[in-house]
Amino acid sequence: MKKIGLILILIIILPIAFLLVNELGKLNENEQVLEQIYNNQLQAILFSVNQYSEDVVSNSANSIIDDLESINNSPGSAETFNKLLNENKLVTFIFTIDSLNPEHITFYFKRNSGVSNLDSLEQYFKDVIANNANKINKLYGYRDIGYNKIEPVVLPNSNNQSLLVFTGLNTQSKRIYGTVINPQEFITNILSSRLQEVAKNEFVISVINPKTGYQYNSTKDFEKRSVQAQKTLWIFPDFNLGISLVGQSIEDLVTERAMNNLILIGILLAVLIVAVWFVYRAVKKELELAQAKADFVSNVSHELRTPLALISMFAETLEMDRVKTEEKKKEYYTIISHESNRLGRIVNTILNFSKMEAGKRKFNFEEEDLNEVIIQVYQNYSYHLYNKGFDFEYEPGIDIPKVVIDREAVSEAIVNLIDNAVKYSADTKFIKMVIGNENDSVFIEVQDKGIGISEEDQQKVFDKFYRVTSGLVHTTKGTGLGLSLVKQIMDAHKGKIILKSKVGEGSSFKLSFSKKSQLNNGEKNA
Ligand code: ADP
Repeated sequence: MKKIGLILILIIILPIAFLLVNELGKLNENEQVLEQIYNNQLQAILFSVNQYSEDVVSNSANSIIDDLESINNSPGSAETFNKLLNENKLVTFIFTIDSLNPEHITFYFKRNSGVSNLDSLEQYFKDVIANNANKINKLYGYRDIGYNKIEPVVLPNSNNQSLLVFTGLNTQSKRIYGTVINPQEFITNILSSRLQEVAKNEFVISVINPKTGYQYNSTKDFEKRSVQAQKTLWIFPDFNLGISLVGQSIEDLVTERAMNNLILIGILLAVLIVAVWFVYRAVKKELELAQAKADFVSNVSHELRTPLALISMFAETLEMDRVKTEEKKKEYYTIISHESNRLGRIVNTILNFSKMEAGKRKFNFEEEDLNEVIIQVYQNYSYHLYNKGFDFEYEPGIDIPKVVIDREAVSEAIVNLIDNAVKYSADTKFIKMVIGNENDSVFIEVQDKGIGISEEDQQKVFDKFYRVTSGLVHTTKGTGLGLSLVKQIMDAHKGKIILKSKVGEGSSFKLSFSKKSQLNNGEKNA
């Protein structure tokens, strides 16, 4: 059985465990890939938002450059430019400066912009330009390869204004253009509609300034919560673009999926283990049965051969007239009759058993007094048992109601129990039969002080062909059918068998019949 267990583990559990571990690993990988895809998608959306804001600003910058260049060429169009500036919601003011070490900076303000101290403003922007000389030099590099890049420059001491610098694409002059923009106004006036368009109802896109705690969300009732993916807003590096899924976060989705898969795998594993356990039990039972059947054949042959040998030996002796005294002859006749009875009983047991197995045994149920049934058995057996050195006692039941039984079958069960008590008693040869009355049942108990049955074997002794294979039992003959026959008879009576036994102290088999069992036509001769 250990081998079979091991083989089952090797051919079923191990590959499945391997498969499961593999699946778990894959699951993890899959979830990671999924998360990666989600994140990439979110990043792509943020990229498009960034691209859009740069396009807007770039278009605006190009039109500013065009306008400013045309002013330089024809002073009359300054009027038009001022008009444009005033209409441009985005731009607070614009300046141009001629080189990186500028002598001259020109400001273009909106009407009513309220700027009073132009000198300090001039100095402030000259310093900013000088401090960002590297960035601005790069702009010329970009311009030379035909790309009009816009560089964001952080303005010192200014929280709500941001500077964008750029160069003219079609000019050879070292002129730098600067435009001051309020990022928050840009976000709420220009970017917001685009954000809503991109986000639809599936995402919430936010613009966040971590320094000031400012947060704009594409969905109004979205509280300030952490976003799932972030990217810096190119044109305003102080601001971050963030995106989240509406409802559950990616982590929540991925964890939920992983949890569901894990639970499924767990259930699958549990079902498999239970299935393997059932297969193991079934195989074990079949093997034990096969072994028991093989033992049964050899036991029965032995059981039959011994009485047959005795009978033929004594019959031959008698036939040859070798026995001189009448007394000896009588003894031989008794042996022959005893052994043929034994043969008859064995054959009967086997026949009854096979009838029961085939469901062909007929019972003849009648109302009977259990005391009468037992007295009959007692009378038939007491002499024989006393001869064998047994103390055989019988304790009749008082006020025992009649019960519906098949008298012959119950006697057969009792005889089987007495036979066993004889076979499995060693030094203390004692058998007692008790009839009793309990609540709603009546019982017959057969007790002995024999070798007893271990707890483990107590579960199995009623199985067909089962014999205990240790100790005295090993040398005692038997078919392993006696107790299973008793059980079949009790099942037919809808009765119970209660076995109490202790190794070395003895056993008691109690057959209990329900008082309620009524005689009806259906049961009679069933
Ligand atoms: P068997 O032909 O072997 O007696 P049974 O079905 O009658 O077959 O009994 C099954 C096994 O139960 C026996 O082999 C024996 O080990 C055990 N057994 C039955 N009755 C007793 C008893 N009174 N005392 C101890 N062991 C018993």
